[in-house]
Amino acid sequence: MKLLEADLSYFNYLEKGFAGEKKFDNMIKEHISIEHIVLNDLLLEHNNTKFQIDSLLFLSNTIHFFEIKNNEGDYYIDNDLWYKSPKKEIKNPLHQLKRSTTLLRGLLQELRINTQIVEHLVFVNPEFHLYNASMYLPITYPTQLNRMMDKLNSLNNSKINENHIKLANQLLNLHIKEPSYFRLPDYTFDQLTKGITCANCDAFIERYQKTTIRCNHCGFKENITNAVIRSIDEFSLLFPDRKITKNTIQEWCKIASHKTIKRILTSNYKQLGKSVSTHYVKQGN
Ligand SMILES: [Zn+2]
Repeated sequence: MKLLEADLSYFNYLEKGFAGEKKFDNMIKEHISIEHIVLNDLLLEHNNTKFQIDSLLFLSNTIHFFEIKNNEGDYYIDNDLWYKSPKKEIKNPLHQLKRSTTLLRGLLQELRINTQIVEHLVFVNPEFHLYNASMYLPITYPTQLNRMMDKLNSLNNSKINENHIKLANQLLNLHIKEPSYFRLPDYTFDQLTKGITCANCDAFIERYQKTTIRCNHCGFKENITNAVIRSIDEFSLLFPDRKITKNTIQEWCKIASHKTIKRILTSNYKQLGKSVSTHYVKQGN
């Protein structure tokens, strides 16, 4: 469906942020070969204040706290205020970082853990530039990312012990699982465009041949069975209360025939109920 402008801009913001975090996470995976623990995407609370952590890297004596940003374009600092060029003020990300690090310090004190925390504000988008920033700020720019990874990795005496693992588990247990759907826009089944979308680029698939669908937009090919199961998963995620029936799924997938849908449902799902009330559930559910 077409999203309202405010929802769309919030969606783009989330998606961009997520892409940035994934990119950083992959860099850690590729580069850091010394003993370490990584925790991503934590939502914690201290003094009745919630705070978010993009990434925590545990090394021997230090916890590195990373706030990841995927901003793009030219930015500048003027009197401690941050602007996107030409003149749009943005929230000072260093304040956010400082606030979260302070709260994490408080939380660790409460847990009687005395470990050094090093804070980093990391910009991962190669199209990002910041003017007028002091070199003493805890900022890592896209062009410095590889060197930062090398530097972390050069602490080759890093040893992870029981205490690190215990603390990591404590933080995981304290993680607040907020329902991620609380800011979903309103939608109904009838309102949504039906059809199978491409697993690679999300464009709607126009038709399929034999057992293969091919995206006209990007050329990606996928087996029809996979594509239908993927679409059913999306249907279930969007409509957790609706039953999976042959007719509903045929309408949902649109391009696949009744016969194909029936074959896929019968061989991949458990059938419940008889005749008009027949519906299917995922195997193992
Ligand atoms: Zn595609």
